[in-house]
Amino acid sequence: MTKTIDLRSDTVTKPTPGMLQAMSEAEVGDDVFDADPTVNALQEKLAEMFGKESALYCPSGTMTNQIALRISTRPQDEVICDKRSHIYLYEGGGIAYNSMLSPKLLDGDRGRITASMVKENINPDDIHFPRTSLVSLENTMNKGGGSIYSLKDLKDIRSICDDHGLRMHLDGARLFNALVETGDSPRDYGKLFDTISICFSKGLGAPVGSVLLSSKKKIKEAKRVRKVFGGGMRQAGYLAAACIYALDHHIDRLAEDHRRAQILGEVSRELSFVRQVYPVDTNIVILDLADKSESWLLSELEKYHILAVPFGRRLVRFVTHLNFDDEDLQQTIEALREIG
Ligand SMILES: *Cc1c(COP(=O)(O)O)cnc(C)c1O
Repeated sequence: MTKTIDLRSDTVTKPTPGMLQAMSEAEVGDDVFDADPTVNALQEKLAEMFGKESALYCPSGTMTNQIALRISTRPQDEVICDKRSHIYLYEGGGIAYNSMLSPKLLDGDRGRITASMVKENINPDDIHFPRTSLVSLENTMNKGGGSIYSLKDLKDIRSICDDHGLRMHLDGARLFNALVETGDSPRDYGKLFDTISICFSKGLGAPVGSVLLSSKKKIKEAKRVRKVFGGGMRQAGYLAAACIYALDHHIDRLAEDHRRAQILGEVSRELSFVRQVYPVDTNIVILDLADKSESWLLSELEKYHILAVPFGRRLVRFVTHLNFDDEDLQQTIEALREIG
């Protein structure tokens, strides 16, 4: 049987043997009673890493983002974010449904907004306007092709938020991809953001879960919201063990995913059917096709047992990950060259 090369997302990975072993050996308890030692260990480990008081393990990144929105705002408030944000595009309208918020959508550089853009979009204190209460940023920026914020730009945004009493949330589903590239530390981020969401089921390669980081007081509220969202889990330590394993073994190796993505990007620039390739900063490669549709390329690739996803008009996205090695890269390159 031919092996399928799955580049649809970095969520498609399966646990490694070492991770499975850590999972099977986990000590567990009922986490709704705060009695799962492995979940507690994961939460403490990540909080410590980021210099945050507290953390909460949740089933998905959508849930950690949605909880963060809820605990950082009041109904009728407005959230400033880029128009490509996951919280706006890919969370099913939860921003309105779960928290009764409206988004103020900005058009940043590959999804990265600036302090001056934030400043210009804070509503005046006038009953006609929704109250601006939160700025939500994404790093790396998925829809921007895995683009990275500089710490300087983030600090400038924080300073505007401080001047105007706004809270700041980070959708850090792929934050470790950014940290591996920039060398910035988790603590740099812990200092800047009120709430941070980290995914373990993306590049880190765990099967399930995300963690929300914040103050003790906010995480207490978050736990209440997680319960009502249906996200209280019981012997979740089996899953948390995979996340602890990922923190210990799968961070540095993200650089390999980035190297393979770079090569895929370089090769793709030479292809006749490609108009341009977005800059490749981390593990995401977006091809902008010349005169063919995205579904054309996806079905051509399928003939070679290679999967990718449509990412807008004439755009196709590839994401490299832990289950995509150099041999898979070589096969993908050969297939792309044969197609065009
Ligand atoms: C994947 C992702 C999430 C969370 O997605 P889930 O599938 O709910 O875990 C959040 N933000 C970004 C930018 C993502 O890529």
